[in-house]
Amino acid sequence: MRVAEISDNKIVVKEREQITLEEKTGAIVKVIGCGLCGSDIVKFREHISNDGTVLGHEIVAEIVEINSNSGFKVGDTIVASHHIPCFRCAYCKGKSYSMCEHFKETNIVPGGFSEYVYLSEEHLLNVTHLKPKNLSNEEVSFYEPLGCCVRAVKRAELSPLSNVLVVGLGTIGLLMAQTLRAFGMTVHGCDIMPDRIHKAQSLGINAFNSSDLEFAHKHIYAHTNNIGVDCVFMTSGADAAISVALETVRLGGKILVFSSTPKNLGYTNNDIYYKELTVLGSYSPRPQDLETSLQLLTNGEVNVKNLSTVYPLEKIQEAFNDTISNKIMKAYIKM
Ligand SMILES: [Zn+2]
Ligand SMILES: [Zn+2]
Repeated sequence: MRVAEISDNKIVVKEREQITLEEKTGAIVKVIGCGLCGSDIVKFREHISNDGTVLGHEIVAEIVEINSNSGFKVGDTIVASHHIPCFRCAYCKGKSYSMCEHFKETNIVPGGFSEYVYLSEEHLLNVTHLKPKNLSNEEVSFYEPLGCCVRAVKRAELSPLSNVLVVGLGTIGLLMAQTLRAFGMTVHGCDIMPDRIHKAQSLGINAFNSSDLEFAHKHIYAHTNNIGVDCVFMTSGADAAISVALETVRLGGKILVFSSTPKNLGYTNNDIYYKELTVLGSYSPRPQDLETSLQLLTNGEVNVKNLSTVYPLEKIQEAFNDTISNKIMKAYIKM
């Protein structure tokens, strides 16, 4: 079977021995396609993953072999995610599901950028669903990234009447903004790239250019009775975006951190203290968040049409390069 693995700072397509179920429970699936996640880019670019690693986890696939009590059968087209919390440890009991050891250890094997993948019984029972008929393969591949946004929105614990700002209107920003809208909130979005602002506007999001901080402040104050937004969702990976959050959040408001930034700058002690800010991070979804995600995609409340650019597996390096250079919004690797 063909896989795309990290090799000497490149993504290289190689031939590997075919995986089979043998005596195990679970399923072997033939991958139809897999989304390229921002976290894959970070793992590749920052050399976090070793040579031989197969990245990718946003898979759409067909079951070709199965030994399971999940009810799925050979021929089913499914969508699946990679991590599962144990729901028993101290982290899970404290609602920090993505900090759970079991969550971090569980994964699809060898990774999504592979012709065939092994899903354990636990994956089938918790984070796998049949592909809804009204969604294309590319559309349903947003199941896991949208699940991350759903988790962030739930974690922020906002009232539906809240005013919110999404900083960064890349794919994740567009998913986040639409999720917030689906939860009933008044949503603003900002970026510094005009084409991204236009894309957000075409999805009905009130989007503006935040390259001028003073303008960003005035714009948000004008739309929030001069107090600022209740919560800022930081999907931008730029250090400069931190100033936008501090200029637009209201006193006593929240900042939800959803991205790493290169210089790792932060909100200062005194920002947090004098403004009584709540700064919180959100990383990865629970099974319940993934279910909500699939509902939002299926009922059309989150529109992901035409967000993906499709690359064949052979051109996966190009997909990484084009994502890094912002040439495209989101890559989908077709097997
Ligand atoms: Zn992802
Ligand atoms: Zn746990």
